[in-house]
Amino acid sequence: TYVQLMEVIEKPSVKYEDIGGLSEQIRELREVVELPLKNPELFEEIGIEPPKGVLLYGPPGCGKTMLAKAVAAESNATFIAIVGSELVQKFIGEGARIVRELFELARKKAPSIVFIDELDAIAAKRIDIGTSGEREVQRTLMQLLAEIDGFRPLDKVKIIAATNRIDILDPAILRPGRLDRIIEVPLPDFNGRIEIFRIHTRRMKLAENIDFQELARMTNGFTGAEIKAVVTEAGYNAIRDNRRQVTMNDFLKAIEKVRSKKKLRRVEEY
Ligand code: ATP
Repeated sequence: TYVQLMEVIEKPSVKYEDIGGLSEQIRELREVVELPLKNPELFEEIGIEPPKGVLLYGPPGCGKTMLAKAVAAESNATFIAIVGSELVQKFIGEGARIVRELFELARKKAPSIVFIDELDAIAAKRIDIGTSGEREVQRTLMQLLAEIDGFRPLDKVKIIAATNRIDILDPAILRPGRLDRIIEVPLPDFNGRIEIFRIHTRRMKLAENIDFQELARMTNGFTGAEIKAVVTEAGYNAIRDNRRQVTMNDFLKAIEKVRSKKKLRRVEEY
């Protein structure tokens, strides 16, 4: 069934405090997603309409999925996720139908948050729609637009979409009344990297010489996912050495290892 394509989590376990360096993004999401889901009467009283949907954009591995899960958890909303590329690749010819069922499920499980990852796979602007595959993607997008247009801003369903290719999106999806709130989720800056290191080492036995500022300085350009990989690798270094504590040197070695993988990946991309 299509249900396999959708990931439904009644209560995600991610909390805002698990997310490093994105406090401004969290503040905005709380205002446009959490608040209207929890206190719609505020908006009715004042007489404004919150956005129906939000677009998160930025490089992979910097926390978009985490943000969506955390807002769902803190809004007591069901989290229903679908990946754009899977929608168009796995069930050819049925994309539109799956989108319809996705929103049916969202209404049934309301309050809910529909998370569409890799939105660009279904909502890229096309110069010409020649092949049948392209027409199929087009039909899926049309259905998505119809679903978004079909509910009201204060219905208890919100859409959060994510992409790392905002430049190729069809402007139709960003029009007022659709995904008209755009939030950038960038690579973490210096302070963000310190926070992410602190979060992922919370339960780690650390030696006293750990210098978080130095770790953040040495990981300029790393994503949150890469910082997490550094922490895991540092832990492995301690285990390999039969130690019960993770040292600064374990981290420095781990940073070099993750950095060399980053370089490899970049070479493969050509
Ligand atoms: P993608 O575009 O690949 O879906 P994403 O931006 O949605 O990436 P996540 O899936 O949220 O990224 O992040 C991957 C993992 O990296 C998370 O599960 C988490 O462990 C870690 N991570 C990424 N960003 C952060 C962050 N800002 N704070 C803490 N951990 C992070």
